[in-house]
Amino acid sequence: MITRAQTILKEVFGYDEFRPLQKEIIANVLHKQDTLVVMPTGGGKSLCYQLPALLFEGLTVVVSPLISLMQDQVAQLQQLGVAAVYLNSSLTPELYQQNSARVARGEIKLLYVAPETLLKPKTLALLASVKVDCLTIDEAHCISEWGHDFRPEYRQIVACRPRFPEAVCLALTATATQRVRADICATLSFNASQQFIASFNRENLLLRVAPKQNPLAQTLEFLQQHAQQSGIIYCFSRRQVDELAEALQQHGYAAKPYHAGLSDEERTRNQEAFIRDNVPIIVATIAFGMGINKSNVRFIVHYDLPKNLESYYQEIGRSGRDGLRAHCLLLLGYGDIAKIRYLIDQKSGQEKQVANYHLNIMLGYAESEQCRRVPLLAYFGEDFTHTPCNMCDNCLNGKQEQVEITIPAQKFLSCVARTGQLFGANHVIEVLRGSHAEKVLKHGHGNLSTYGIGKDFSKAQWLHLSRQFLQKGLLVQDFDYGSLKLTPKAHEVLRGQEKVYGTVQAEQAKIAPEQEERLEYDRELFERLRALRKDLADAQNVPPYVVFADKTLIEMASYFPQARTSLRRIHGVGEAKLEKYGAEFLREISRYCREHGLQERFASTKTVAATSPRATSASKAQLITDAYNAGKSIADLVQQFGIKPVTILEHLFKSVREGRALRAEGFAEYSQLSLEERNKVLAAFEKLGENFLRPVFDALDGKVSFDELHVLRLYYLSRKQQSGE
Ligand code: ADP
Ligand code: ZN
Repeated sequence: MITRAQTILKEVFGYDEFRPLQKEIIANVLHKQDTLVVMPTGGGKSLCYQLPALLFEGLTVVVSPLISLMQDQVAQLQQLGVAAVYLNSSLTPELYQQNSARVARGEIKLLYVAPETLLKPKTLALLASVKVDCLTIDEAHCISEWGHDFRPEYRQIVACRPRFPEAVCLALTATATQRVRADICATLSFNASQQFIASFNRENLLLRVAPKQNPLAQTLEFLQQHAQQSGIIYCFSRRQVDELAEALQQHGYAAKPYHAGLSDEERTRNQEAFIRDNVPIIVATIAFGMGINKSNVRFIVHYDLPKNLESYYQEIGRSGRDGLRAHCLLLLGYGDIAKIRYLIDQKSGQEKQVANYHLNIMLGYAESEQCRRVPLLAYFGEDFTHTPCNMCDNCLNGKQEQVEITIPAQKFLSCVARTGQLFGANHVIEVLRGSHAEKVLKHGHGNLSTYGIGKDFSKAQWLHLSRQFLQKGLLVQDFDYGSLKLTPKAHEVLRGQEKVYGTVQAEQAKIAPEQEERLEYDRELFERLRALRKDLADAQNVPPYVVFADKTLIEMASYFPQARTSLRRIHGVGEAKLEKYGAEFLREISRYCREHGLQERFASTKTVAATSPRATSASKAQLITDAYNAGKSIADLVQQFGIKPVTILEHLFKSVREGRALRAEGFAEYSQLSLEERNKVLAAFEKLGENFLRPVFDALDGKVSFDELHVLRLYYLSRKQQSGE
């Protein structure tokens, strides 16, 4: 049965492999064992019932609480050529009737229903007349009163269960808490042996926290680095949403607001525009996101501090569902924390305790100096040990050394004292750095003994230090005015009775662009395919990702398939989509390849030969290649051309792609890995192909950096060339 499942995976869904746990879950379901699946968003839960549904003789009923999700799933299944329909209150009576009739005739494999629809006598009668093989309960946490989304109807579903004695029951949720999981199992009387709990680590999310200094400017800079990409910016308040959306529009970004204060109509319109790729950016309060299945959300910005770590996790989880990298940036403002603390102080009793608990956990994550995945996953009961993850700011910036910072602390604290404890960090830093700003001079702060004694650190370094002083309890921030005040502990430091340890930020501790994953694909072809996808989607009134995922287009723009058999090898291309869209995509790809003299690039087909490289950068690539082949080392080339090692590697990669031969030894010399480690990497390239580094990175458990992989891919390719493959 499971081999049949494997075949269907490629033929219908167009995927080559199962994701973690999918195979085990599917086998369990096919054996009609009741199963609870706990997987994070984007983990691939749907396949766990959609695939068995195609193997069962009878019907699979899927209970789902959100109409928009139902519609989305059914649209996607129909695109795959699967007979799926839904029944809910959004249908016209005619369509409702039509769908019911198709179920009654046994034409349907998957029926999606809202819980209240399932409970209707009419539906129950319909289902009694057919064979139901699987009852799937999606978003199963709605069963639990401990969940964040309890729905009483969900409890009644349990009561219907005996009506379908032949049906296996599959419950799925992305909920993280132990208590809710236990509640689901107890309510559905599942035993522990039938639970499948996936890791909550979303490896493809790049996690970053940055001090909030000038949030608008920081956001604009971020957006500039993510041009053409789709993402969500979360704000705390409706007013902030409106203001930011407007500011972004003024800067030329097509951004739309989304919050509970807008009319239903406007909300739906904006959400729809986002899903359909008409508008790339949504600025939203936390009201946005439930029921969004869009797979190509490439970034999430938290403009304000999220209210707790669980919400934060759910919000960032809406990005990167397609498995490609997504970038999550949290702006951490000390003013925001003070504001939340103030609001918490207004509460009392248990409510206050709970709020404090959540804030502290959130800060534990945001202020962490270790790998961010450690505190994040610890919250969900997972012990994350694969550090460095290489996908968070702390891991990428390298472990920062703890040093004694007593002297800078004394300088800073005494400057706070001398300015009367009336100012915020920015002003104190101006004074320390001897600024001539009017505000400094006006208050006579140019005459203080602390004026200009802190020129040895940059403004950003001082800000980073000052946050540590706050964190270490040397200072507190006044909520109303944002001014810093000394604590008793600060006086001990000033008197030299207490030493302070912490980190000094390296200048420009930003994630350099070269640390971004470089997917080698033809951007121009990608854009053309994206436009084609949009046309096809609009014509059918479905979102573009329903036609093909971004990942599919990226593979096309990197392998240039030009025949049906090659197109079949691309991720996400199953039989139905091949029939439906194959001809049009092949035509576009072939046309592009003709124009640019490109050929298919499958690992097993013989690629290369005479292609016509693009003019400008090609000549540089040529120069670099010639110098390299003449015996120059990579370090020599860095010197000679005055460009970074990664850029040299990129040029060489281009050359090898275009069919030029490269000597292999230079790469082996440049690599820092041992022979044994190198062989492992080569084996991974052999197995997984060389078009994408990510799978190789993952296969090696993230132990080999992307920089090394770039070098070793060249080594791999040049050796392959030499052996005449
Ligand atoms: P969840 O419901 O757990 O949030 P989905 O079922 O929506 O996740 O799956 C997330 C994405 O992963 C979808 O775009 C889906 O098509 C894709 N996907 C699922 N299983 C696989 C697989 N085995 N190989 C490749 N992609 C997959
Ligand atoms: Zn990390």
